[in-house]
Amino acid sequence: MTDRKAQLAANLAQVEERIASSCTAAGRKREEVTLIVVTKTYPASDVRILHELGVRHVAENRDQDAAPKATACADLSLTWHFVGQLQTNKVRSVTSYADVVQSVDRVKLVTALSAAAVRGERELGCLVQVALDAESGARGERGGVAPDGVEELAAAIGAAPGLRLDGLMTVAPLAGEYAGRQRAAFDRLMEISSRLRAGHPAANMVSAGMSGDLEDAVAAGATHVRVGTAVLGVRPRLG
Ligand SMILES: *Cc1c(COP(=O)(O)O)cnc(C)c1O
Repeated sequence: MTDRKAQLAANLAQVEERIASSCTAAGRKREEVTLIVVTKTYPASDVRILHELGVRHVAENRDQDAAPKATACADLSLTWHFVGQLQTNKVRSVTSYADVVQSVDRVKLVTALSAAAVRGERELGCLVQVALDAESGARGERGGVAPDGVEELAAAIGAAPGLRLDGLMTVAPLAGEYAGRQRAAFDRLMEISSRLRAGHPAANMVSAGMSGDLEDAVAAGATHVRVGTAVLGVRPRLG
């Protein structure tokens, strides 16, 4: 085993242990939570090693980095999640490799994603990104729509050809009433998810929790955690 593979294997084992014990503590089955490894800023060679170690879900947040990486790993059976703020001029590229876009936060983006998915003859999974710190009717600093904007976006995705409404995503806010209160933030996301599922029963994916707060997310009921640093190491630059 190379040094890098041994390091990633050890980190993955630690993250797996954290997820498993959080599931036990919450009375949940381990299979209810899917680990997505956020590979942003790390090379395609790491994605390849992660695949050898059993990882099947990876996430990226910038199309410029993700597109060549996805191409280099096209032979691997991986589900690619896009989790970054997305400009409409990048939509066609992202749609060529992403299976799920987790950062849908405006109707204009829904329209662009739908057109690209139809054109590429793909079905694209979509999550509405919720900004728990955004004012009513506004968007968050790091993307996302305020909670009262979720239903409109969900309806738009549900009606858009080529798109599939899968559920919700959030990043725990650094400011506002939820700053430092990840568990409360994720509980709030679960409430919004319950309301969403009443009208869209298949939209049951809840993507929440990162390296620092995955326990809170699993306790609240997240179905997917997005972990970067705890698997790959501290990123060389902000990403
Ligand atoms: C980078 C990133 C993550 C992973 O964060 P870590 O703290 O490195 O685990 C999760 N979600 C999103 C949206 C990200 O941009």
